[in-house]
Amino acid sequence: MKPPIIRFIALFLSASLLFALSVVALSGQMDSVYSAIVTEESPPVKAQDDIFTVIVDAGHGGEDGGAQGLYGTCEKDLNLAVALKTAKLLTDCGVRVILTRDGDYMLGDGKKGTKKLSDLRARVDIANGQKNALLISIHMNKFPLSYCKGVQIFYSPNDGRSLEFANVLHSAVKEHLEPEKTRALKEATSAIYLLDRVRIPAVLIECGFLSNEEEAKRLTDDDCQYRFAALILCALSEYLTEERNP
Ligand SMILES: [Zn+2]
Repeated sequence: MKPPIIRFIALFLSASLLFALSVVALSGQMDSVYSAIVTEESPPVKAQDDIFTVIVDAGHGGEDGGAQGLYGTCEKDLNLAVALKTAKLLTDCGVRVILTRDGDYMLGDGKKGTKKLSDLRARVDIANGQKNALLISIHMNKFPLSYCKGVQIFYSPNDGRSLEFANVLHSAVKEHLEPEKTRALKEATSAIYLLDRVRIPAVLIECGFLSNEEEAKRLTDDDCQYRFAALILCALSEYLTEERNP
């Protein structure tokens, strides 16, 4: 008997997914399987215009821990865990992936007083440096009312394809994770710097509330983190298929 997560991923790797990936492969976008990771020391990743790229952004990092949740959960760590699993799964399926960070650090020049802004600007620069790309930023939520829970997806207002990807990701969440009640999509305002400044299709997913007992526990679980990676893969296959077969 396979463990639940393997069965879950197998479910996603259905005929439609294989079909979608084959469409992409046939279109020549997967002829070069390549995954790049941006680290503090790395030079900027050069755009490879002809290769479709998914930029997986683990929110926060280093001094910026993000939300501090119940049971000692720290948002930056969970964001990174989901981002690494997503990058691995997409890369295994032949998608070119760029991780904005692959460890516990901030991006940017690190100058005192402007560290946070510099970090966000660096993420925007990575995204805008790629022409044929899609950005998915991974975060966790927190709210004073502990009963608040659920996935929340934001999309960038700057490229119509952001809403298209947000829609398929929302459908995947509704179908496979939260069939009862799913939070409505939201267009990002200027309060979400990254989505406000990027020019490529971009979404931000808050995978759950670290202030909610049930979700704070669940989000630290490997199976749950793999589930988000699988949902992103599922949505990506749908998005790429729709894009080529309007
Ligand atoms: Zn966050």
